[in-house]
This record gives sequence, structure tokens and C-alpha cells, in this order.
Amino acid sequence: MKRIRLSLIVVLSVFCVQWSVSGNKTGQETTPQVKNVIVMIGDGMGVNQIYAGLTANRGVLHLEQCQFVGFSKTYSANSYITDSAAGGTAIACGVKTDNGAIGVDTDGNPVKSILEYAAENGLSTGVVASCAVTHATPASFVAHQPSRKMEEEIAADFVNSGITLFIGGGKKYFDVRSDNQNLLDTLKAKGFQVALTLDDVKKVTTGRLAGLVADEHPAPYPERGEFLPESVEAAINLLKNDDKGFCLMVEGSQIDWACHANEKEATVNEMLDFDRAIKVAFDYADQDPNTLVIITADHETGGMALTGGDLSTGKVEAVYASKGHTSVMVPVFAYGAGAIEFAGIYQNTDILTKILKLYGFAK
Ligand code: MG
Ligand code: ZN
Repeated sequence: MKRIRLSLIVVLSVFCVQWSVSGNKTGQETTPQVKNVIVMIGDGMGVNQIYAGLTANRGVLHLEQCQFVGFSKTYSANSYITDSAAGGTAIACGVKTDNGAIGVDTDGNPVKSILEYAAENGLSTGVVASCAVTHATPASFVAHQPSRKMEEEIAADFVNSGITLFIGGGKKYFDVRSDNQNLLDTLKAKGFQVALTLDDVKKVTTGRLAGLVADEHPAPYPERGEFLPESVEAAINLLKNDDKGFCLMVEGSQIDWACHANEKEATVNEMLDFDRAIKVAFDYADQDPNTLVIITADHETGGMALTGGDLSTGKVEAVYASKGHTSVMVPVFAYGAGAIEFAGIYQNTDILTKILKLYGFAK
């Protein structure tokens, strides 16, 4: 009799545990606390660039797994059409600034970025980009300079920042400089492990990492291989060691350049490469429910329009209205903890406010 009663208790408690687990999965009211945030920026990625990638990929993208979608207004402080410096600064630092400015307001004062908020709160931080890390978008998350053109000064800001890791190109701004300093030595002195190839990047799984895999920019896809998704995987692998959590910015940098060139095939190649990087982030968020993934753009590039296509063959027909950026709102996709906060239409600067709120950090 005692044995029967005991097994009944065991069965009941197993049932209760299972019930509460499935309750958490479906219940929107039990949102897990945000501990890790991965902000992914497809530079120049509007809805048409996304749908071109989806069409070429015969009707599917990993991005489609996202749970909530919003739109952000991208104009800058001094222009109806933003550049990537002001667009990146808006997302990273939550202020509208003048085109060309990196991490500073319209008066030139430095404004704290999401990575700096995260580091101050004891989290690990990182940047991964398929361009030079000193280029406008990644620079906006780390540096504070009046002009995007000041890439040597931006490199020095990386060295002096509290960032845990960065992976991209731009090595020459660290070791072939007008002041003759070798900042790779300075990085090592500050505890960074310097890796100059993707293979060496992957070997670094703890501590600080400076991955500088190209003098200037990594090659376009497919020449650069799986650099972006594999770097995102390496970055998460290192950053997840931090029990307090992490904040990582990932840029699909060359979608923008393909669209400036009005090159449809290159646009699709860069879009699908970025989508594979998105899958890596989603896979991590599936393992760690305290993770939020945001996928957005700084602006649209090229005024791309899809004028025809075939989902069964992957054929894409497109025209471009511009060789530059356009003013249109860009989508904001959200996946994981707190994703619902990103539904709606809002300013690009609101993205930082929402992330800070979800982390529970004071502005
Ligand atoms: Mg960029
Ligand atoms: Zn551009």
C-alpha cells in the first residue's frame, strides 16, 4: 500500500512539472528575463532585399521564424535620408545625429552605446561585421568620433573600449597607421588575443578576442566563405561564458554595397549569407530562453523593387530607383525573450530604449 501511494506521488509530481513547463512555453504572461541581446543589422536591408533573398531561396528564409515585426523611421538629425553612421548611432546610442557622426550627438558629445551600457552592468560585449570593424555601422557601437572617415581614431577607440570581442576586417587601421603605432601590440597588452584568420578566431573560446581577418574589408560572398555565420557562432560561444549575460551586434555589411552597385545577384548573395547568420542566433536563443534577437536595418539602399520572379526556380527580377540610400521605414524583426516589445511603428532611437528596459538597465 505504501509503495502504491509513493508511486502515485511520483506520477503526480512528474505531471505537475510537465504541466508548468508547457505553461511557460505557451503563456505570453511568463516572459523570461532578457539576459542576452543579439542586435543584427542588415545594412541597406529593406523589405525588397529580404524578399529577393526569399525568392532566390525558393520561398523560405530563417528570418521568417521571428515572432514579432515592427517598423522604424530612419531619418537622421540633419537629413531625410540617413547614412550608416547616423543610422548606426541611432540604433546603438538612441540619439538622432548628423549624417557621418559616430556615437556622438549633434553637438559632438559622446553618447553611450548599448554595448557600453551592457559592459557597465557587468555583461560581456561583442561586434561581428562582414566589413572593417572601423566602418560606420560597427564603429557606431564602440567609437565616438565626429566623422566616420576617422578610421584610425575609431581603431584607437576599439583598443580603449571595454569590449570583450570584435571580429571583422580593418587590420590596417591598427597596424599601418599615420602615427606609426602598432595597435595590435596595444591590444595584446590589454589582454586581447589577436587572431588574423577565421580558423584562429574559432580557437579563441575564452577571454578577450580581436579578430581582424582582412586589411580592409572581407571579400564579398561567396568569396569570403561562411565567415559571417561562423564568426557569429564563435562570438556567441565565447560570450555565453558570462553568467551575467552578453550583448552582441552583428552586421551583414555588404547588402548595402550590393544595392549601391544596383547588383541583384550580389544583393541576394549577401542577403542569404546574413540569413544564415540569423539562423545561428536563433539556434542559440532556442537553447537559452533568456535571449532576445533583433534583426533590423539602418536604412534601405537602392530603392530596390521586385518586378518579377519565380519561387519554384528562384529567379528574381529587380530594378533599382537609386544608387544611394532611400528614406523608407525599415522592418524590425524580434525573436525570443521580450520580442513582443518590438511590434509597432517607432523611431530607430526607440530600439535602444526598448533594449535597456528589457535588460532592466537605467538610461
Ligand atoms: Mg554598415
Ligand atoms: Zn550605403
